[in-house]
Amino acid sequence: MPFGRTEQLKQIRDEVARLKASPLYRERIKNRVYPVIGEGNHEAAIMFVGEAPGKNEAEQGRPFCGAAGRVLDELLVSIDMPRQDVYITNIVKDRPPMNRDPMPEEIAIYAPFLNRQIDIIQPRVIATLGRFSMAYIMEKFSLGMHLASISKIHGREFVAEASYGPITVIPLFHPAVALYNQSSKADMLADFQILKKFKSGR
Ligand code: URA
Repeated sequence: MPFGRTEQLKQIRDEVARLKASPLYRERIKNRVYPVIGEGNHEAAIMFVGEAPGKNEAEQGRPFCGAAGRVLDELLVSIDMPRQDVYITNIVKDRPPMNRDPMPEEIAIYAPFLNRQIDIIQPRVIATLGRFSMAYIMEKFSLGMHLASISKIHGREFVAEASYGPITVIPLFHPAVALYNQSSKADMLADFQILKKFKSGR
């Protein structure tokens, strides 16, 4: 590798910042907000992949820093996992207007950047947050035959092969679900327990 992880991730940031091909680029400029690339430990064993930035995230250029982020922080605290130990990102790097679901063509434009982030950080575990990242990551790692509704497969472990070695994919509910369905919080807390065993690093 000619550059270290941090330099390679900075390069991704610069490329996304210039990504005029995305329909969401115009929204970003119009609203004077930022792309959200990801943040955390560049050597993380665990990578969380959400869907797309919301309003707070686009304003601050940071993933999961609004209401859903507070739920994610709580879930991390529940297993004593410091947020700075993991890496947190999204598939789509710019905010879709009105927080609508990302469109297939938006996922197609931004996914290559996520793929590069995975190859650079080389996590042992990818915990997907919500159904869009679940579907994308499971298809990417040839786990499509196990795809089912998130209410069926949340909290299960799927072992696959990444370009750099074995990887475990764990589909999780999106933390925002707990904001409108309090009873799902218990499921999320239980699912997070599974991550404990991957805490000890690489
Ligand atoms: N929801 C997401 O999927 N990602 C964020 O960064 C914030 C909210």
